[in-house]
Amino acid sequence: CLLNLVVLKRLLYKWLQANDLQKEVYQHLAYYVPKIYCRGPNPAPQREDMLAQHVLLGPMEWYLCGEDPAFGFPKLEQANKPSHLCGRVFKVGEPTYSCRDCAVDPTCVLCMECFLGSIHREHRYRMTTSGGGGFCDCGDTEAWKEGPYCQKHELNTSETPEEEDPLVHLPEDMVARAYNIFAITLKYAVDILTWEKENELPGLEMIEKSDTYYCMLFNDEVHTYEQVIYTLQKAVNCTQKEAIGFATTVDRDGRRSVRYGDFQYCDQAKSVIVRNTSRQTKPLKVQVMHSSIVAHQSFGLKLLTWLGSVIGYSDGLRRILCQVGLQEGPDGENSSLVDKLMLYDSKLWKGARNVYHQLFMSSLLMDLKYKKLFAIRFARNYERLQSDFMKDDHDREFSIADLSIQIFTVPSLARMLITEENLMTTIIKTFMDHLRHRDIQGRFQFERYTALQAFKFRRVQSLILDLKYVLISKPTEWSDELRHKFLEGFDAFLELLKCMQGMDPITRQVGQHIEMEPEWEAAFTLQMKLTLVISMIQDWCALDEKVLIEAYKKCLTVLMQCHSGFTDGEQPIVLSMCGHSVETIRYCVSQEKVSIHLPVSRLLAGLHVLLSKTEVAYKFPELLPLSELSPPMLIEHPLRCLVLCAQVHAGMWRRNGFSLVNQIYYYHNVKCRREMFDKDIVMLQTGVSMMDPNHFLMIMLSRFELYQIFSTPDYGKRFSTENTNKDVVQQNNTLIEEMLYLIIMIVGERFSPGIGQVNATDEIKREIIHQLSIRPMAHSELVKALPEDENRETGMESVIEEVACFKKPGLTGRGLYELKPECARNFNLYFYHFSRAEQSKAEEAQRKLKRQNREDTALPPPALPPFCPLFASLVNILQSDVMLCIMGTILQWAVEHNGYAWSESMLQRVLHLLGMALQEEKQHLENLSEENVVTFTFTQKISRPGEAPNNSPSILAMLETLQNAPHLEVHKDMIRWILKTFNTIKKLRESSSASPVAETEGNIMEESSRDKDKAERKRKAEIARLRREKIMAQMSEMQRHFINENKELFQQTLEELDTSTSGVHENSPVISDAKLTALGPEQTRVAEHRQVVMCILCQEEQEVKVDSRAMVLAAFIQRSTVLSKNRNKITPDPEKYDPLFMHPDLSCGTHTGSCGHIMHAHCWQRYFDAVQAKEQRRQQRLRVHTSYDVENGEFLCPLCECLSNTVIPLLPPPRVLFNRLDFSGQPNLTQWIKTISQQIKALYLLRDEDCASNSGNSEKMDQLQLPEGFRPDFKPKNPYSESIKEMLTTFGTATYKVGLKVHPNEEDPRVPIMCWGSCAYTIQTIERILADEDKPLFGHLPCRQDDCLTSLTRFAAAHWTVSSLSAVQGHFCTLLASLVPNEKNGNLPCILDIDMFHLLVSLVLSFPAIHCQDFSGVSLGTGDLHLFHLVTMAHIVQILLTSSTEENGMDQENTNSEEEVAVLTLYKFLCQCTGSALKEISSGWHLWRNLKAGIMPFLRCSALFFHYLNGVPAPSEIQVNGTNQFEHLCSYLSLPNNLTCLFQENSDILNKLIESWCSNNEVKRYLEGKRHAISYARESNKLIDLPDDYSCLINQASNFSCPKSGGDKSRAPTLCLVCGTMLCSQSYCCQTELEGEDVGACTAHTYTCGSGVGIFLRVRECQVLFLAGKTKGCFYPPPYLDDYGETDQGLRRGNPLHLCKERFKKIQKLWQQHSITEEIGHAQEANQTLVGIDWQHL
Ligand SMILES: [Zn+2]
Ligand SMILES: [Zn+2]
Ligand SMILES: [Zn+2]
Ligand SMILES: [Zn+2]
Ligand SMILES: [Zn+2]
Ligand SMILES: [Zn+2]
Ligand SMILES: [Zn+2]
Repeated sequence: CLLNLVVLKRLLYKWLQANDLQKEVYQHLAYYVPKIYCRGPNPAPQREDMLAQHVLLGPMEWYLCGEDPAFGFPKLEQANKPSHLCGRVFKVGEPTYSCRDCAVDPTCVLCMECFLGSIHREHRYRMTTSGGGGFCDCGDTEAWKEGPYCQKHELNTSETPEEEDPLVHLPEDMVARAYNIFAITLKYAVDILTWEKENELPGLEMIEKSDTYYCMLFNDEVHTYEQVIYTLQKAVNCTQKEAIGFATTVDRDGRRSVRYGDFQYCDQAKSVIVRNTSRQTKPLKVQVMHSSIVAHQSFGLKLLTWLGSVIGYSDGLRRILCQVGLQEGPDGENSSLVDKLMLYDSKLWKGARNVYHQLFMSSLLMDLKYKKLFAIRFARNYERLQSDFMKDDHDREFSIADLSIQIFTVPSLARMLITEENLMTTIIKTFMDHLRHRDIQGRFQFERYTALQAFKFRRVQSLILDLKYVLISKPTEWSDELRHKFLEGFDAFLELLKCMQGMDPITRQVGQHIEMEPEWEAAFTLQMKLTLVISMIQDWCALDEKVLIEAYKKCLTVLMQCHSGFTDGEQPIVLSMCGHSVETIRYCVSQEKVSIHLPVSRLLAGLHVLLSKTEVAYKFPELLPLSELSPPMLIEHPLRCLVLCAQVHAGMWRRNGFSLVNQIYYYHNVKCRREMFDKDIVMLQTGVSMMDPNHFLMIMLSRFELYQIFSTPDYGKRFSTENTNKDVVQQNNTLIEEMLYLIIMIVGERFSPGIGQVNATDEIKREIIHQLSIRPMAHSELVKALPEDENRETGMESVIEEVACFKKPGLTGRGLYELKPECARNFNLYFYHFSRAEQSKAEEAQRKLKRQNREDTALPPPALPPFCPLFASLVNILQSDVMLCIMGTILQWAVEHNGYAWSESMLQRVLHLLGMALQEEKQHLENLSEENVVTFTFTQKISRPGEAPNNSPSILAMLETLQNAPHLEVHKDMIRWILKTFNTIKKLRESSSASPVAETEGNIMEESSRDKDKAERKRKAEIARLRREKIMAQMSEMQRHFINENKELFQQTLEELDTSTSGVHENSPVISDAKLTALGPEQTRVAEHRQVVMCILCQEEQEVKVDSRAMVLAAFIQRSTVLSKNRNKITPDPEKYDPLFMHPDLSCGTHTGSCGHIMHAHCWQRYFDAVQAKEQRRQQRLRVHTSYDVENGEFLCPLCECLSNTVIPLLPPPRVLFNRLDFSGQPNLTQWIKTISQQIKALYLLRDEDCASNSGNSEKMDQLQLPEGFRPDFKPKNPYSESIKEMLTTFGTATYKVGLKVHPNEEDPRVPIMCWGSCAYTIQTIERILADEDKPLFGHLPCRQDDCLTSLTRFAAAHWTVSSLSAVQGHFCTLLASLVPNEKNGNLPCILDIDMFHLLVSLVLSFPAIHCQDFSGVSLGTGDLHLFHLVTMAHIVQILLTSSTEENGMDQENTNSEEEVAVLTLYKFLCQCTGSALKEISSGWHLWRNLKAGIMPFLRCSALFFHYLNGVPAPSEIQVNGTNQFEHLCSYLSLPNNLTCLFQENSDILNKLIESWCSNNEVKRYLEGKRHAISYARESNKLIDLPDDYSCLINQASNFSCPKSGGDKSRAPTLCLVCGTMLCSQSYCCQTELEGEDVGACTAHTYTCGSGVGIFLRVRECQVLFLAGKTKGCFYPPPYLDDYGETDQGLRRGNPLHLCKERFKKIQKLWQQHSITEEIGHAQEANQTLVGIDWQHL
C-alpha cells in the first residue's frame, strides 16, 4: 500500500485545497492506520515505523513545509533562533550535576555536556544519577545564582532578546498550515488515547470491522514478575521465555498484547488471567481490545513523538504547538487538549504517559511564555491531579503530578502561583483533604489504618515535597498580595499543625506490659517530612517584619485554641519554697496523657526567637501581644514532653514497649530535633525569661514529681533512710539528674542566633567541635551528625578548617577530621545534642586528652556568649533561691554521704551548674561598664550559710568539705577549679571595687602553697596509672583466643627456621666465592641441610625425609586466565582435552597457591574429616551455605582461615635421589639426542612388541638392538614412604580435577601433565608479578610464596614416581618429538603453538622416567642441560619467526657486536629455511635487542624453576636490580652470553632441526599472513584503564542498553574490570543457563573471561564485586574516592569521585596474585550475611 509520488502529490493538493482539512486527514488515517499497525500477534515496530513515516507522516510533513521536508526542515532549522535552554531530557541512570555554590536549589541540574562546559566544574558540586525524566536546566537564569549558561548555550544569548516572538522567523503561510496540521493531529492523538468506547472510533469510521482482537495485559505495582510470568504461561499457553518477554514489556511500556485472534479467543485468556491473579490481591488488569483501536492508539503515540521532533526544528513551531495545546475548546474550563490529557493521566498506561510527558517537557516547559500559562493550568487542576494520583497505582515518576518539580521550583512561577493562584493554600488544603481520619479532638489518627489508607498516606506525602518546592526560593521583595496570600497559606498550615498538636497521646502503662505496640511511625514520618517546611516557613517570616508580626499573632491564637482548657479538670494547687510561692495545676506526666507532638508550640518558639533575631521585639513592642502571653501556659506542654523523656530514661515507662523508645529516639535525632527537642528547650528558655525563675523551678520540680523531696526540710534524710524501695530511690536519683541536666541546657544552650549573641557559623562550629570531641570523624560521618537545610547543606565546609585538621587516608580506611587542640576548651560535657553514649565517650576522650597533656582532668563549663536582650533575664535562674536550695540540698547529701539517696552524676551536674554560674559572674564583671551595677552576685549567695532553723553550712563551705572527702576523688579537680574561679572573681570584685564579697570561712588562699605538693603526688599517681594500663593491656592481649596466640608464635618459629636455613645457603664455604650454576654437569653443589618443621595442629616437630611421615602445606588450586592472551577461546571438552602442550596464548592455566602453613598429613586428614562431618550436620540443620565448599574438598587453613582445597607434600630435593653424579665423558647435545632417540625408538618397539605378544608373535624382540646401557625392563624402586606416596597422589589428583574440571581419577595419564603444568604456570605468574613491580627475581618473594614454589616444584619433580612409568615415558617421547621429530609422532603442534616454558618444565620433569633405565653413565644433569638448551634454541627460533621488528634505524647504534652479527646470520638462515617468506631484516642490532627482550621472561622463569628444583642459591647479582641482569642470568643457567653460540656449537644437528621446524605447514601459513601467532615478550595483563572522573563511567553505563531486550536500559550495568565488557547484571533479561542452572550475566561472564573468577565494577552502586564460582562472592570498596578520602558505595552522597590509583593497583595485585577467591573467603568468614546472597544471579 505504498504511496508513490504522484499519489502523494494528489493527496497533498487535496489537503491544501480542503475546506474541511480535518475530515480529509481523518479519512486518510481511518483508511491507512489499520492497514499499517497491528497486523498480527507480534508487534513489528520497524516495519510499522517505516510504513507510517512513508504513508502517514510523510504527507503531513509535506503539507507543513509546503515542499519536500528534506529541504523544508533544514531551512527551518537554519532560520531558527534556538532557545538558550538546553532542556536535554535525562535517561535513566544518566549522570546529572548540581552546583552547591550556585544552584538555586538542589533540583537545578545540568547534563554532563553542559556541566563540563560550565564554570561550575570548578565549584563544589554534587553528582547524581537521574531516575529518568527531568531535564537539564542549563540556560535557565532563574535556576542559577551565577553562570546559568555553559559554553555551548551561551553563544546564542546575545542574539536573542528575551521577549521576541519566535513566530516572526516563520513564513506566514506556514504559520497557518502549522496551526491546521498541529490542531488536527494533536486532537486526533488526544482523542484516541483518551477514548473509552469499544466499538467506535472518535470521528473515524471503521472501514472494515474485522473480528480481530487483542488481549491486552496492563502492568500494576501489585503483582510480581514471577506471578505474571507464571500466570501467562498458564493463560496463553506460552513458553517461559515468551512469558518473560511479555512481562518485561508490560513492566517497561505499561501494556502488551498477549494474545491475538477473535473476540472469544482473547476473552478466554482474559478470564484465565483474572481468575489466576485475583486470589489474594486485586486481579491483573486485562482488556480485550479491537485491533483497529489498538492500531490508532499506536499511531497516536507515534504522532506525539513526531510532534516532539518537528518542533525541535523551530521555536516558532514549538510556540504554535503550545498555543494549539492550550487553546480552550468549546466546553470552556479544562477543555484544552493539554487539560484533557492531564486529567486523563491516571487512566493511561505507562508507555503513553511517558510519551506525552516528554512532549510536554519539550514544548510547554521550553517556551517561556507558555510555561507560565501551563503552570497556571497545572495549579488550577492541582487538586484533581493529586486526587487522581492518590488512586493511581503507578509510581509518582510516571504521573503528571510529578511535573510539579519542573514548575514549582522556578522561583518566578512559584511566586506567581502563590499570589495569583493561591497555590500554597491549595497544596495544604489538598493535603488535609486526603488525611481525613481524625480523633474526637480533630487530630490526625493513624492507628488502625487500613492498607488502603496506609497506601494513600504514603502517596500524600509527595504533597509536602510540593510545598517544599514552592517555598524553596525565598522572596526578595514582598508585595501586599504576596503577604496576604502567604499569610493565608500560613493559616492553612497552622490548621495542619493544629491537627498534629497532641496527636498519638500516650499514657504510662503500669502493672502489665502493653499488649500491642501502638502505631507511631506515621506521625513521625509526617513530622520528619514537615521539618524542613516548618523551618522554611520561619525563614519566610523572618524576611518581612509585617509578616512576622502577623504570623506570631496567628500562631499564638492557634496555640491558645489548642490549650484553651489546659487546666480543665486539673486541680489548681499552690507550691511554695524558700519564701516564694506559685499557683499551678496538679498534673503528673506519669499518670496522665502526654504527647510528643507539639508543632504549634514549637513553631511559636521559633517565631519568638525570630522576634529577637530580627529585633522586631524591640522595634515594635506595641504591635506584639507579648503582654497576653502566659508563660506557664507556654512552657506546660514542652515541659511535659521533656519530663516524659526523663522518666523514660529513669525506667518508669518500661512497660510501654519499644514504640515509645523509638519516639524518644527520633525526638532527639538529627532528622527531627531542630523542630522538636531544640524548640522545646527554646520554649522553656522563653518561659523562664518571662517569669520569676523561682516560680519556674517550682513548677518544674512539680512536673518532675520531685517537689516533695526538695520542698520538705530533711525529706532527703528520711528518703534515704526510711524508704527501702531501692527502685524508687534509683528512679528519683535519675530524675534529679535529668532535671539538673535540663537546667544546664536551659542556661547553656544559647548558640542559636536570636537566643544568644552569636551568628549561624558559631552554631555549626559548636556542633562540629562536639562531634569531634568524641573522636576524629570522616566527612560523611560529620555530615550525618549535622542537620541539613532544604538545600541539603549543613554549612560545614565553610567552618571546618577553623576547628579541625584533615588527615588523609592510606591504602585502606578513609580521611579523618581531627579537632584542633585549641578548640578543646569550648567543650561542654553537657552539650544538648549528645546521646548518652556519645556523652560518656566524649568525656572519656577529653579526660584522656587532658591527662596526656599533663593537665588536671576537670572539664569545667566553657565560657558562653551573652544572651540576646529578650532572653537576658534567664541567667538569674542560676542565682535564684530555689536553685540555690536545690544545689545546697544535693551538696548536703554528698557531704553526709549516706545511703544511695544521691549519686555522683547528680553531684557532677551540681558542680557544673556552680561552674556555669561562676563563669557567668566572671563575665559580667569583666564586661562591666562604670555605671552599671552587677546584679549577678552568685559568689555572695553561695558564701552565705543557711538560715535558721536549719543553719545549714554555706555552699562554699560544703565544697571545702567535699574537697577532702575520700569518696569523691574523681571530682576533686572540678571542685578545685570552682574554688579557684571563686577566688579569681573575688579578686575581680575587689579590684573593680564592686560590692565586696563576704568573708569566707575557708582558707582558700593556702591552696597555692599546697599546689606543689599535690602536683608531685599527682605525677606519681599518673606514672602508676600508666604502668597499670600497660599491664592491663598486656593481660588482655594474653587472654586472646588460643589460636591467635599460637598463630604469632608459629609464624615466628617458621620465620626463624627459614632464616636459619637460608643462612646455610649463603654462608656455606663451599659456594662462597664460586660462580653459581643452577643446572647441568657444572651445577654448584649444595650442602644438604636438614629441614625440620612443626605441625600447626599437633605442634610436634618433624624432619622432612623421604622415608618419614608426610608433612603437607595447605594449598589452593584454581583455574586461571590471569595470563591469558585470548579470552575468547572456547573451552574444549574436558574429557577429551589433551593438555600435553600449552598454547603460548596461556588461555587457561592451573595456579597453585598456599598460605604456607604446615601440618602432618595424618593431622590434616583428621582435621578435614572433622570439618566434613561438622558441615554435613550444619547443612542438614540450617540449610546454609558456608564460605567454603566441603563437597569440593575445600576447607579453611586451621591457622589463618585461608581458603584451601588440597595439600602439597613437603619433600627433600628430589633430584639428588636419582642423580648419579658422574661427570666424566658426558655426551654433547648431538650425541645425547642421538642416544635418546635410540632409546625412544627402542621403547616404541617394545611397546609394539607388548601389543604383539598378546597375539603370540614375539620374534621382533630378538631383532631389537638395545642402546648400550639401556635397560627398559628395569623398574626403579620408589624411595618415598607410603604416606608421602599417598600425598603425592592426593595433590596430583586434585590438580587434575580442578585444572581440567573433571571427576578425580588418579589413573588418568593426564594427571602428571597437569602437575607439571601447574608448576610451570605458577612460576610464570610469579615471574610476571615480580617483573611488573620491578622487583629482582630472587630475594623479594614473601615467605609463603617461596615455600609454596619450593614444594610445588619438588612435588612436580617427584610425581612421576607414583604414576605409570610407561605413561610418563610416553609423554616425554611426545614432548621431545615436538622439537626432535620422529616417525611415530605425527601431527604435533608447530613450534609457534607451544609455550616453551611449559614444554621445558614437562620435559625436564618427565625425563627421569627414561633416565632411570639408562645405565650408560650419562648424568641426569646432562640431560637437563641439553633439554634446556634445546628448548631455549627452539624459543629463540620462535621469537625470531614472530618478531615484528620495525627497521626504522632511528636509534640504532652502529656497533656490530659479535652477538649482532651472529643473530643476523641465524636470521638469514631462517629466511633461507622458510623459503624467503620471512621478512627481510638487515639490522643485527634490532634483532639482538628484540631477542634479548623476548627471551628474558623465559630465562627468568627457568632460573626460578631450576633454583627450586636443584636448590642452588641465586647469585647475589640477581637478588637486586642492577645492570647486566641478562649476563648474570645466562651464567646462572649455564648459557653463553651470546645465545646464538648455542646454534653454532651444535650446528650439525640444529640446522636439520631448524629446517624441520620451519617447514611445518602452520609456520608457512603464518608467514604467509594466513594466521596469527603470539609474539614475544608477551605483555603482562592488567586490569582495564579506568577514567579519573567517575561520572565518565556513569555516563558510559547510561548509554549502555541490555543486549538482549532491544535497546532497554540496563538496571544494573556492570563493568568487567578484566576485559572491559559492560554487562546487564542482576536481571531476568540476561540470565543464561550454565551447567543446568540459571545464572546472571556476571556469573556467566566469569566462566568465559576468568574461568570462574571475576572482578566487576557495579557502576550505579559504585562498588567492586568479586565473584568466584556460582556461590561465592563479596563486595569490595571501589577505587574511587571523594576529596575527603571516602568511597561512596551506593552513590548516596554524590560528592565528585576520582580514581585512587594506589587502591586500584591493590585490586589489580589481588587479581594477579590469584587472591580474589581468598579475599572472598575472608570477607564471607567475617560477615556471614554475605554467604546467603545468591551471587549466581548477579
Ligand atoms: Zn544540558
Ligand atoms: Zn548548556
Ligand atoms: Zn557554581
Ligand atoms: Zn601433626
Ligand atoms: Zn594458613
Ligand atoms: Zn571480562
Ligand atoms: Zn539484560
